Amino acid sequence: MCGIFGYTGPRDASSILLDGLTRLSYRGYDSAGLAVVDDFRHLSVRRAAGKLDNLRRLVENEPVTGRQGIGHTRWATHGPASNVNAHPHTDGTGEVVVVHNGIVENYALLKARLTANGHQFFSQTDTEIIPHTIEELLAEGLPFEEAVRVAAGRLRGAHAIACMHTRTPEMLVVARIGNAGGIAVGTGEGEMLIASDLPALTPYTSTAIFLEPGESAVVRPEGFELRTLDGRPSTRALRPVGVSGGAAAKGGYKHFTLKEIHEQPESAMSALHGRIAFSQGKAQLDEMLLPLTDSEVAALTRVVFLGMGTSVHAGLVGARYVETLARVPASAENAAEFLHRDPVLDRHTLVVGVTQSGETADTLQALHEARIRGARTAVITNVPESEATRAVEYPLLMHAGHEVGVASTKTMVNSMVVMYLAACALGLQRDVLSTESATRCVEEITRLPALIGATIETTERDAEEIARRYMNARRFLFLGRGLMEPVAREGAYKMKETSYIHAEGMSAAEIKHGPIALIDHETPVVAVAPRNALYEKMLISMSEVRARDGKVIAVATAGSAEVAAYADDALWIPECPPLLQPMVAVVPLQLFAYRTADLLGNDVDQPRNLAKSVTVE
Ligand code: GLU
Repeated sequence: MCGIFGYTGPRDASSILLDGLTRLSYRGYDSAGLAVVDDFRHLSVRRAAGKLDNLRRLVENEPVTGRQGIGHTRWATHGPASNVNAHPHTDGTGEVVVVHNGIVENYALLKARLTANGHQFFSQTDTEIIPHTIEELLAEGLPFEEAVRVAAGRLRGAHAIACMHTRTPEMLVVARIGNAGGIAVGTGEGEMLIASDLPALTPYTSTAIFLEPGESAVVRPEGFELRTLDGRPSTRALRPVGVSGGAAAKGGYKHFTLKEIHEQPESAMSALHGRIAFSQGKAQLDEMLLPLTDSEVAALTRVVFLGMGTSVHAGLVGARYVETLARVPASAENAAEFLHRDPVLDRHTLVVGVTQSGETADTLQALHEARIRGARTAVITNVPESEATRAVEYPLLMHAGHEVGVASTKTMVNSMVVMYLAACALGLQRDVLSTESATRCVEEITRLPALIGATIETTERDAEEIARRYMNARRFLFLGRGLMEPVAREGAYKMKETSYIHAEGMSAAEIKHGPIALIDHETPVVAVAPRNALYEKMLISMSEVRARDGKVIAVATAGSAEVAAYADDALWIPECPPLLQPMVAVVPLQLFAYRTADLLGNDVDQPRNLAKSVTVE
């Protein structure tokens, strides 16, 4: 999602802003802009549609000077990605300038009122009403910082804004409204910064705070002051900013996505680290135990995983882990749909959000709602200080390391690892999983990093060759049964996200009821069919596809002799315990999608229209 970055201090702002925006660009964006105010209180704004390089070039050709500025990478919600819609936006006097992350839900009403009062708008964004609202409040005599707070209080929705006024040099005012749209203030030596996310701050500061919802900050080079939106002072301790989030390098790989696929043995290991005793194959699942009493755990009647996109697929796998290992009914759902369907919840339900960024708006809101309705809440996320970790009783970290590629790979595998361990812990806590069985589960998962490593090794080249054969397909079907059904869905997701080829993933049992009508010699079908209890049923589905001229690409266990008779091509994974298969079988599908997208010449790390953290509903 969009990124906000700001600077005030003794140095020239524009190059720092461009650097900060570059560090935020992993979040995805479609246009960018910046504004600086110089020592003569003159405001310069530069905006450019498209990649950050367009803005960089514009600033090179039309340089700006000033020691205070705000920048933005936009992910359009209102109005196309054009120069005029790019942020920052200014008011009618040209003195107030604003960047904004999120959606102003009541913007139509506010815009109608402002238009009636004579304000003129040049963009199609919801954002532009913010500087104009501030302008009106300034005209009423409010000081700038108060005008920003009052204006922020009038906006409905969840967002973050950063504002400057040419008459108050050296001062940035930021505000956070609602529970999405994080914004942090970082302290430097005689300079201060603001950013949507901590990795962008690491080169400049070692301490920062995140604003709470309903809070604003006045930021000057020598320090900052926090207030609630209704003007009461608030204080909070600064937190150290980790170094792990620094700019990641591609390390010799063509794309971050490929690098991150290759990092999965290591990142899976990090998810296990400290949570199991590798050498003794023992569960050390203390960190994974729910912060509930034994009787509360025994009384749990339901576990619901909530997420969006890839996180739902991980949640579907997690739900099966919970049912199998902890014997609690479990399901996974799209968080946005869950939120708006008046769900039945009580304190015997555990709602687990899954969000790699920790700031997915739909998931955060669903968790918030679940909490209000009395459910117990947990979250699985990759970002330690993220909003999600503060919104629940039980945060669990994926420890996947920084993921730059917009299409999730290692964070999905790591979230499944966490779900597996948490399900084991819950099974132990509920006394339905014996210590011996838990130890066996733990022993099995200690093999996961090696299994993923072997899978990458054996499927890397085949994935490329097979991608070359099928890259011109108009559509793909991905089929799986049992634990492989969510994997098939994820395979289809990766394919459409990165290659832009239409793909659908579903239970192989489903095709006979409709989708089989799509099958012809031009529709390759990826059958995720490792050896497990449903292997034979998968062979039948594969033969049904072949009987209709369809081409079958199998993801199968090495040595499955039958597959040759049922598939045109195969990606071989090592023999592995059924519960680990989702975390292994997804890997060749990532490689297959990656290779297809790369062969088609797509920008795999930043697929069109997508964003890494979706902080709007
Ligand atoms: N709603 C605003 C727009 O469309 C901001 C979107 C964003 O978060 O980048 O310009």
